[in-house]
This record gives sequence, C-alpha cells and structure tokens, in this order.
Amino acid sequence: MAKNIQAIRGMHDVLPDQTPHWQFLENRVRDVLGRYGYQEIRMPIVEFTELFKRSIGEVTDIVEKEMYTFEDRNGDSLTLRPEGTAGCVRAALEHGLLHNQTQRLWYQGPMFRHERPQKGRYRQFHQIGVETFGMPGPDIDAEIIAMTARLWRELGIEGLELQLNTLGTSEERARYREELVRYFSAHAERLDEDSRRRLRSNPLRILDTKNPEMAELVQGAPVLEAYLGEDSRRHFEQLREMLDAMGVPHVLNPRLVRGLDYYSLTVFEWVTDELGAQGTVCAGGRYDGLVAQLGGRPTPAVGFAMGVERLMALLEAKARLPDARRADVYLVLMGERAQREGLVLAERLRDALPRLRILTHCGGGGFKAQFKRADRSGAQLAVVLGEDELENNQAGVKFLREERPQESIPLVELADYLSDVFDR
Ligand code: ATP
Ligand code: MG
Repeated sequence: MAKNIQAIRGMHDVLPDQTPHWQFLENRVRDVLGRYGYQEIRMPIVEFTELFKRSIGEVTDIVEKEMYTFEDRNGDSLTLRPEGTAGCVRAALEHGLLHNQTQRLWYQGPMFRHERPQKGRYRQFHQIGVETFGMPGPDIDAEIIAMTARLWRELGIEGLELQLNTLGTSEERARYREELVRYFSAHAERLDEDSRRRLRSNPLRILDTKNPEMAELVQGAPVLEAYLGEDSRRHFEQLREMLDAMGVPHVLNPRLVRGLDYYSLTVFEWVTDELGAQGTVCAGGRYDGLVAQLGGRPTPAVGFAMGVERLMALLEAKARLPDARRADVYLVLMGERAQREGLVLAERLRDALPRLRILTHCGGGGFKAQFKRADRSGAQLAVVLGEDELENNQAGVKFLREERPQESIPLVELADYLSDVFDR
C-alpha cells in the first residue's frame, strides 16, 4: 500500500470540532473592529519577494531565514507572506487609499515563516492584523490599544499584561544605538552568536533576545528613555494619560523594541505567562517611516497583529466556547418513500425555520443505526418518518436529550410545533 501523505511540519488542519472555536473568535473580532469603524481588506497570500525585503528589512529573522521564497514559472521571485503589514501598505498605495484621507483597516489570514515548530510557533499560522494610516497623534495609538483590550474582554480572555514602550524618532534612536553598541561591545565575550552578528547589523534587536543566558546583560543595558526628545516624550505621556483615562492598565518595558528604522514612538505587546516561551499574543506599534520607504508620501501609521493560534490556546484553556453541535433536528427516514418525502419535508422546514439546523438521514439503514447518528449529531430531537407516518400524514417526534413521551404531529403542523419547541 502507498504511504499516506501527511501535512507539512508546522502546518496544521483545523478540524471540525475546532472550527466553531475559530469562528467564535473571528466573529467576535469582526464585530468589535466593525464597532470601531474598521474595514476589512483582503490581500493576496503571495507577493513579490522584493516587497518584504524592502519593508521588513534585510537584517531581520524573517528576511534572513524564515521566508518561503520560490521562483515562479516566469522566473519572478515570489514569497508566501510572512506578515500582513507589507502587503497592506502595498495595496493601500496601489489603490490610492492614502491620498488625503485616513484609513482604519484590518485583515486576517494565514502567514508563513520557516521557524522551528513548537507550541505556539508554527510554519503556517494565522494573524488578525489592524493597520491605520494618516493619523500622527497618540489618540489613535490609544484607540487601537483600547480596542484590543475590549477584544480580550469580549472573548473572555483574562490575565493579559499590556507592555508599552516608546522608540522615539529614528534620529533619537541612532544616538541611542551608538550607546548600545558601546555597551555590548564592552561585554562582547558574553554575547551569543546571534547577538554578535546583530551588534553590527541591528543592535537594538539584541534587547529582544530569547536566550535566558543573555538576560542579565540585557537588563543592564542603557535604556532609550534618556535619548528621547521633547515631542517623543509628550507623545508617550499623552498616550499613557489616555489609556489611564479609559481604564487600560499597562506596564512600561524599556526593553520592548523593534529593530527597524521605520518604527517610531509607540510599541506595545500583550503578553501572557500561560503559554510558556511563546507568550506574546498581540504585538503592535507605530511605523511612520514605512509608507515612504515603499515609495509613498510620508504617512503616519500605527497597527498591530495578533497570533490566532496563541489566542485559541488561551481561549480553549479558559473561556466557555461553543461546542461542535451540528444539528437541532435530525430526520430519521425509514424506507424508500420516506427517504424521498423526507428530503422534501426538510426543504419545507428550512424555508419555514431558517434558524434551525436540520439534518436529514441519508443512506438508509435500520432504526437503531439512524438513531445512533441522530444522537451523535447533537440534535435535540428526531423527527421520524416511515410508511405508517406517511399514511397518516404525520411525523413522530422523539426527544433525544430529555425524558418526554414520543408524540405524533400532523405534517402540516410540524413547522409550528418545532418553532414552539425551539423558540426560533
Ligand atoms: P516572536 O517574538 O514570538 O517570534 P514576532 O515578533 O516574530 O514574534 P510578529 O511578527 O510581531 O511576531 O507577529 C505578531 C504576532 O503573531 C506574535 O505576537 C505572535 O502572537 C504571532 N506569531 C508570530 N510568529 C508566529 C508563529 N511562527 N507561529 C504562531 N504565531 C506567531
Ligand atoms: Mg518571530
């Protein structure tokens, strides 16, 4: 026998008993973002490799070693998107969405990174992302953060910590960077290999190391705060005041960084200690430099992306989630005539009761086997149709989850009867 082909490592199926949980999350997110006036945008999953090189930057983990890049039949270098911001900015520029207007956009979908798979870290994973354009002030930063806080509330996720930092302007960061290089160079012997490389290419990223042996060294590093100018300071203070006013608690984390030049001012992450090393469920910040870097006019922007798998792990551990019940009513159909008439009856019931889920038994079989399926479907009741019932223009109704005598209901009254039972 041929060997079964399996899914690619780090890429997962979402099975039917999990999809209700995903849909629950997606529906809540769609609802909350809609209530803030955000509009959905859908981008292709594949883009020119150049887009990610130019936006994410050459000296990042993603571009250095995580991208799924391939040549298509025309010889173009294409890449499966590792994140959504680049494609979103590309689309916004391409379609003139940034001319003299503000935008509040969101997207969702799979992202691809060739990382080492482990709990909370996959090669195909899903993000829900938000990007806003054209708004330079701390007010929009505060709004998107408050929106994420509302999301956790509405999803029933508790215990996330909001960590906040400011990266200042790129000029302020450049001076800080020199100081940082001086500090880490003085302790070069304690740097791991990655950090030694980053010392030259992207020293801020050393602060982001996940190597516990470097923790102490990083703790002792100079912080950016001292290098902030007046405007940067004010932006950060105002943001914090707005968050306080809206009742969104936060902690300062001076080591929260992004390594790229197009980032500025606000950075934030929502972190949990319940998922081990993969504790960041949502990461965002301001990226005022990116639009110009991709060829547009300078346009302020701020956004975030959340990791759906990590949120799902929290949800499944904690919140009450809808179960995978498929049906409310199961039609048990005994005999050929009932099979045929049952399909017609089911259509009529679906016309009359659009909010009920009605499953017909297909494929024939005995009474016992059909009731077993009915039970497994999760239905509250079975409607039984056989020769006798059809003779009398009636259906049998049997409750599957409660002690209640079986009833015979005239077919013409069945829709009303079900409507009463289910109150739908
Ligand atoms: P990490 O530090 O965990 O590698 P990152 O900085 O690479 O994260 P971002 O690019 O900011 O992550 O992506 C935003 C969010 O997407 C992360 O906070 C996380 O929740 C999720 N995420 C990122 N990479 C993965 C992955 N490989 N598998 C699952 N979720 C991921
Ligand atoms: Mg990463």
